[in-house]
Amino acid sequence: MDIKFCTACGSPTQQKIPCDDDHVRSVCTNCGQIHYSNPKMVVGCIPELGDQVLLCKRDIEPQKGKWTLPAGYLENRESVQDGAIRETFEETMAKVHIIEPYRLFNIVFVDQIYFMFRASLLSDKFGPTNESIDVRLFDEKDIPWDDIAFKVIKQTLEHYFHDRKTKMFPFKIFDLH
Ligand code: ZN
Repeated sequence: MDIKFCTACGSPTQQKIPCDDDHVRSVCTNCGQIHYSNPKMVVGCIPELGDQVLLCKRDIEPQKGKWTLPAGYLENRESVQDGAIRETFEETMAKVHIIEPYRLFNIVFVDQIYFMFRASLLSDKFGPTNESIDVRLFDEKDIPWDDIAFKVIKQTLEHYFHDRKTKMFPFKIFDLH
């Protein structure tokens, strides 16, 4: 993504490849500051309670009204585990314990990385939040497959229920196209 104005001095930037670099960057026309744009990481989890998983119904765009697993952008100075725990609380009011990393999806066409953990609910306390109009535990047979917000979340859930048959949950990396 282009950064139009310099974050140091506010002058317009131009798109060019700095010397000793191999990517086009936004370079300040005044002070020469180079602005790097890097992928964003989304962290989230599959909150488990017994045989059920917790999903939330989005009350914000994009995909408002669709169901998803709790996930959101990692903050600066935050570990991926803490980010997943925080996003889960913000979207479901649920407190979770991270079990282990489960899936990483490279989504290079939107410069995103999704990092999803398996997690266990620490209690059955959860509910709607500013970001979720509804939060519910689902059995596998009741998952609203046609109303899942994002392809990456649908794949995570499909992989999870597939792996659950063997009770083996190896960490894997996939590329989403
Ligand atoms: Zn500048």
